Parts: sequence; C-alpha cells; structure tokens
Amino acid sequence: MNINNLLRKNIQTLKPYSSARDEYTGEAMVFLDANENPFNEPYNRYPDPLQNELKEKISELKNIPAKNIFLGNGSDEPIDLLIRAFCEPGVDNIVTINPTYGMYQVAADISGVELRKVSLNNNFDLDVTNILDATNKNTKLIFLCSPNNPTGNSLNKNAILEIVKSFNGIVIIDEAYIDFAPDKSFLSELNRYQNLVILQTFSKAWGMAGIRLGMAFASTEIVDVLNKIKYPYNINILTQQKALELLEQKDKVGNWVKLIIAEREKMAELLKEFPFVVKIYPSDANFLLVKMHDAKGIYDYLVEKGIIVRDRSNVHLCENSLRITIGSPKENNLLITVMENLI
Ligand SMILES: *Cc1c(COP(=O)(O)O)cnc(C)c1O
Repeated sequence: MNINNLLRKNIQTLKPYSSARDEYTGEAMVFLDANENPFNEPYNRYPDPLQNELKEKISELKNIPAKNIFLGNGSDEPIDLLIRAFCEPGVDNIVTINPTYGMYQVAADISGVELRKVSLNNNFDLDVTNILDATNKNTKLIFLCSPNNPTGNSLNKNAILEIVKSFNGIVIIDEAYIDFAPDKSFLSELNRYQNLVILQTFSKAWGMAGIRLGMAFASTEIVDVLNKIKYPYNINILTQQKALELLEQKDKVGNWVKLIIAEREKMAELLKEFPFVVKIYPSDANFLLVKMHDAKGIYDYLVEKGIIVRDRSNVHLCENSLRITIGSPKENNLLITVMENLI
C-alpha cells in the first residue's frame, strides 16, 4: 500500500513550516535564532517540536521505536490531523462504528467530510461484512474504538484484524481504555501493517487528562505526514515535563489501574442488585454502561444529590442507559449510598 497515494493532493505537495528548532538542532552556547526572550528560563524557550526525550521514554515503555510515535494535544489532535491529511472535503468519506466516541463525527463535520456509521450488533460487536460494505473507493479512514466508548466492551480482535487486512485505506484503532482491558494492545501488530494507526492517551489510566497528551503509533510514512501538518510546537514544555515525571512513576499508575478495575467489578456487583437497574454491560474500561428502567429519572435524582453521571439514552443502542465512570472507593460508595436511599 502506498500511503502517499492516499493523501490529499495539497498535503502531498505541502511545504511544511520550518521553525528555528528544525533548522538548527543540537547544543550551542548562545541561541539567538528564534526571537525568544533571554529571561524567564526555561519557559522563555520554544519546546522541542518533535518531543524527542519524551518519545524515547514512551518508546521504552511501549517497546515501539520513537520514529513510529506521534504525540498530540490529546488523542483529539491525531484524529483531526488524520482526517485533514487523507480526506478531501466533499469527496472522501470515513467509516466508523455506531455507537462510538463522538469526536470522530465532530472532527469529520468540521472538515466537511462524510462520516458513515455502521451499527454494532446487539452484543455491541463488529460485523466485518457490514463495515466493508459501507466503504467505497473514496473511503480513506476507518475508525474503530476498542474498548469502545460508551459501550465499554472490547471489539472482536479477529474482526479488527480482518478489516485491517482487507481495507485499502487507513484503519485507526482507538485504545484510550486499553490499560483497563484484559486483551493485549494492537501495538504488537504495528510493524506488520503499514495502514494501521493505534491511538492511546495520557487522559485515562495515566490520570493526566489536564495536560492534554495523546499518542498515535503508526508506520513512519503516516507519522511523517502527521508531523508535517501539525502545529510546529503542539506539545508545550509544561506538558512534556509533567509526562516525563509521571513516566518515572509507572508503579503508581499500575496500582491506580488495578484499583479502578477492582472497583469496577465491585460496582457492577452492587449496582445490579438495584430494582431500577435492568442490566450492567460487561466493561473492559474505567466506566460501566448501565441500563435502567428510567435513566432520566435516576440521572436527575443523582444531579440533585450532587453526583453527575452521563446520560447516554439518546445514543444508538444505548436507550435508557447511564455511563458511570469508576471513581475513588469513597466516591463509588457514596453513589451506592445515594442510590440505596432511592428504594
Ligand atoms: C477519553 C477518550 C479519548 C481521550 O481523548 P484525549 O483527547 O486524549 O483526552 C480518546 N478516545 C476515546 C474513545 C475516549 O473515550
């Protein structure tokens, strides 16, 4: 597969912005090349545009070469950049599952690119034929999300692989919740497929939604395209520093994940006892999708008690369902106590 042929024409021929830090890399005694202020170290300096130190650390952690890593302002940045690189507005299209993460639709809409939604089956799983049938010669991207938001389940691995193998475009697997899942990441398949992009994030298991740091893992052809069209300094110094700090505390993150998974299982057991709960869907993520008799009523009651969950009742296949994030043991117990007062 030739990634270059899939690109929009204007991106194929684009001459990217060349920053001072692109034109001279390395050490020097005096930097007078970027119109920076000499005072207020270290924030007076522009950040490393390619975040090399941070990528080296992530490379060690994920066992993926740094040249196959792109870092963005949240995963939302690579989602947007992939659309802008590959999809000609008004001509090309994207295929995704339904229901899934809302940003694929929003990013496609902003770019004026058609998004085709293919319903999951009643087990919230993929049908390969339906996905491939929804594609045509103008389909450039397929977005899959596993574990999926808001359903919480992991998609069938073989079905995903079949799509990666048979589709003549780019397949993006959004693994925002992979650290909470028993399944292995698709990262181990990365070097086999030039058209595969895997998204992960510091926003969930790593507890750093506030610093805005997302990762895209892909072939060098795709990573090079994303680097070519991103804002030159898309990851600021504070974010790079904080992420480096946290990467030194992997054990702490591992313990958070274990605790959240244990709490998820505890909450599933407790919630299913309530008479107003119809069903707890199996979850490989840090939230539970819970079907209720009267989701709106429960939602309003919880708001009144100061507890905010997400009402997903308007989402395809999620009628009368609330999405409940797993909080701290104290927060989770409070939710249970407040619900007990309702019966
Ligand atoms: C939360 C979430 C993300 C994270 O987005 P960031 O921009 O990295 O915070 C990505 N994908 C899915 C499916 C999510 O639910």
